[in-house]
Amino acid sequence: MPREAFVNGRYVPHAQAAVHIEDRGYQFADGIYEVVTLHNGALIDEELHLDRLERSLGELRIAMPMSRAAMKLVARETIRRNGVSNGIIYMQITRGVAPRDHKFPHKTCPALVMTTRQMKPHSAKLLAEGAKVVTVPDIRWSRCDIKSISLLPNVLAKQAAAEEGAYEAWQVDADGFVTEGSSTNAWIVTGDGKVVTRAAGHEILNGITRISLIKLIESQGYTLEERSFSLDEARVAKEAFITSSTSFVLPVTQIDDTPVGNGHPGILTGKLRRHYFDFMTSAGDPI
Ligand code: PMP
Repeated sequence: MPREAFVNGRYVPHAQAAVHIEDRGYQFADGIYEVVTLHNGALIDEELHLDRLERSLGELRIAMPMSRAAMKLVARETIRRNGVSNGIIYMQITRGVAPRDHKFPHKTCPALVMTTRQMKPHSAKLLAEGAKVVTVPDIRWSRCDIKSISLLPNVLAKQAAAEEGAYEAWQVDADGFVTEGSSTNAWIVTGDGKVVTRAAGHEILNGITRISLIKLIESQGYTLEERSFSLDEARVAKEAFITSSTSFVLPVTQIDDTPVGNGHPGILTGKLRRHYFDFMTSAGDPI
């Protein structure tokens, strides 16, 4: 099935999908995006993703390119045309096309692009061994809660991870506290079984997987602490894991050169991963 993308009102062959050179996303990274998981033909937490999309747009004073209901229809049609059942849909909205000038243009329509692709499940090796993370200084701006397409520090962090044969890079703030991964939220489990993740604020993206997992943790009766944890605390944690719409709940077994806990994926992490898959299977919105 040939791939198609939705670009500013039209479905076009993926290979020919293009935006104008004066799109403000291209020139200023003046835009936002969302990634929604498709699990067995169902969209996971679509409403929460659209809530966050509207919030990101609001913070940047970019208008919705179409109604929320229309966005949902376009997402479904893009998925249908590409025959995707397990993967992601990517939505990107920029402030639109205008002669290059930093300040907001007058009367420019926001530009909307959607693409979708099938994704393979994580390898058995990754799940059995867990992921390695490296650590890098967090050099981002102070509005990481906005899901901006301006991702250079995240790109550099992920590249640093790749060059070390690691899956992810954890970003560490000036006080030695872990903020989050380059494209995931960061979690640890303490020696006495408490699940810890940084509180939502301007320093991290409030992951939708994070939000849903917090509800699951609470409903399953585990103890959750939303607070900052230092890299030193993470190094001696019993377990560690990351969450995102494409990593789900993924065990972390090594931070830089230090094994986490006994160096194997944590037991509680495994339980939370299974709870999250059960949630996806039961709570998805069939397209
Ligand atoms: N933090 C960052 C910086 C991210 O890019 C992502 C993924 N977009 C996440 C956290 C996880 O968010 P979500 O669970 O919504 O995929």
